Amino acid sequence: MRRRKIYEGKAKVLYEGPEPGTLVQYFKDDATAFNNQKQGTIRGKGVLNNRISEYLMTRLADIGIPTHLVRRLNMREQLIREVEIIPLEVIVRNVAAGSLSKRFGMQEGTPLPRAIIEFCLKNDELGDPLVTEEHITVFGWATVEDIDDIVQLALRINDFLTGLFLGIGIRLVDFKLEFGRIWNEDEMMIVLADEISPDSCRLWDLETDEKLDKDRFRRDLGRVEEGYQEIARRLGVLPEAGPVDLKGPKLMQ
Ligand code: 5GP
Repeated sequence: MRRRKIYEGKAKVLYEGPEPGTLVQYFKDDATAFNNQKQGTIRGKGVLNNRISEYLMTRLADIGIPTHLVRRLNMREQLIREVEIIPLEVIVRNVAAGSLSKRFGMQEGTPLPRAIIEFCLKNDELGDPLVTEEHITVFGWATVEDIDDIVQLALRINDFLTGLFLGIGIRLVDFKLEFGRIWNEDEMMIVLADEISPDSCRLWDLETDEKLDKDRFRRDLGRVEEGYQEIARRLGVLPEAGPVDLKGPKLMQ
């Protein structure tokens, strides 16, 4: 079967979907970090991220968060609604880590007094720079009302996911969300898009502070696959057949 490729990113490919207004999102094993300077493959990552993101988005939909997910199709693919992506990375932080720790010289692991939200422009050439609401509105990436909706959604998502992960012994340190617009006649709705997975979250074991996310790859901590598998296992979505099952279908061109 041949399908039209709409877009290929670092970790995913989007294909034309079976009906207008839909796309197929394919999860690859490829991993990049530091704005593409570090590249590699994490075996089985695509299969696990497909299931982890499906699980988390389905749970979020249950509490009324609108998402782009229609359903998982197979080991590596999801049917999603086509959205107009808002070109922002919405970062939610509960604990100091990563670029925040670096920017302010704060020790990683320091709890923040309350959750904070940061916006970065999605632009690889510029290295996804941090932007303010002034930049967002003056350059027309989103309106004040859009930002209000996004902040409300991001905080509800954070509350829910923080509790969900606590329940399986994991601290949700920080994560990145993307949102998109869906148009229905003249009505516009903002929905959660992209993925929520160990590629886009910092997830630390509650007891040991062991990192179980993409930082294992970024920082050469070893046992990268095991981090993703541990998250899937604790969420109850690890494929039963184990590693054999993790190859999934070949990427169709
Ligand atoms: P930081 O700004 O500290 O590098 O990242 C904060 C959080 O957002 C981390 O959980 C990180 O995984 C996520 N994040 C930031 N930028 C990106 C990105 O370009 N892609 C992905 N997948 N996650 C990101």
